[in-house]
Amino acid sequence: MLVDAHCHINYYKENIELALSDIKKNNIFAVWNSVDIEDYKQMPDIIKNVDYILPGFGIHPNRAHDFIDKIEIVKETMKNCLFFGEIGLDYFFVRDEWKYPLQKQVIEIFLEAACDQKKIINLHIRNAYNEIMGLIDSYSVTKVIMHGYDGPKEYLNQYIDRGYRFTIGATILEEYKERIPQWKEMLNHAKEIPAELLLVETDGPPDINVMPSERLQTIIEELARLRRTTPLEIRNLTRVNFLNMIKNDDRFTKYTQVLSEK
Ligand SMILES: [Zn+2]
Repeated sequence: MLVDAHCHINYYKENIELALSDIKKNNIFAVWNSVDIEDYKQMPDIIKNVDYILPGFGIHPNRAHDFIDKIEIVKETMKNCLFFGEIGLDYFFVRDEWKYPLQKQVIEIFLEAACDQKKIINLHIRNAYNEIMGLIDSYSVTKVIMHGYDGPKEYLNQYIDRGYRFTIGATILEEYKERIPQWKEMLNHAKEIPAELLLVETDGPPDINVMPSERLQTIIEELARLRRTTPLEIRNLTRVNFLNMIKNDDRFTKYTQVLSEK
């Protein structure tokens, strides 16, 4: 079984049925992150015929300002979901500074709930590496997945000390070399993250014609090359690492069983 620990299946748009069959056929356990309420509400219907897609509820930081007057609905929606994501702080791609305090308000609501409901959070953080760590500490959230971490090594080490997990995605591929200034640093992160904290992600499709299994396989092969190991080892490691996050939690029984099989 392959584990895609951060994806957005609906981004496949007209190819969604193809993507779902690919997920089914290739035995992919997909951790589907939503970016707002509407996104989350459509999940049950889409995944009804595919057993191993884990749906999560989140308000993406670039959408946070739209939900500041809908906090009660957000809180209500939080109750029944299995994990929180995609949530976070983005002070890089989001340029309007007036939105930053609103992002912070929304993430704090999720962190408070993650603490109370003992839920995993799937995080998107840009240029707020220290701030998020302070917030996570203050709410005592323990199950953290850091998606596509692109910050400095200094914070990476502090996150590792706290046991955060990291999803490594397509940004380690050569095609991102010219597009990401800190590309080399991200490669080093991918090599240095301790094995027990390592996960992989597709972050949804970069291209609706590239199926999840193909993208995941490319990322796993490159990650194996960087870490001087085998793709099979990465597959097993990422499966066991996700299993370890959910195995003692009754809400995940259905998923724990399948992740326990090779
Ligand atoms: Zn995402």
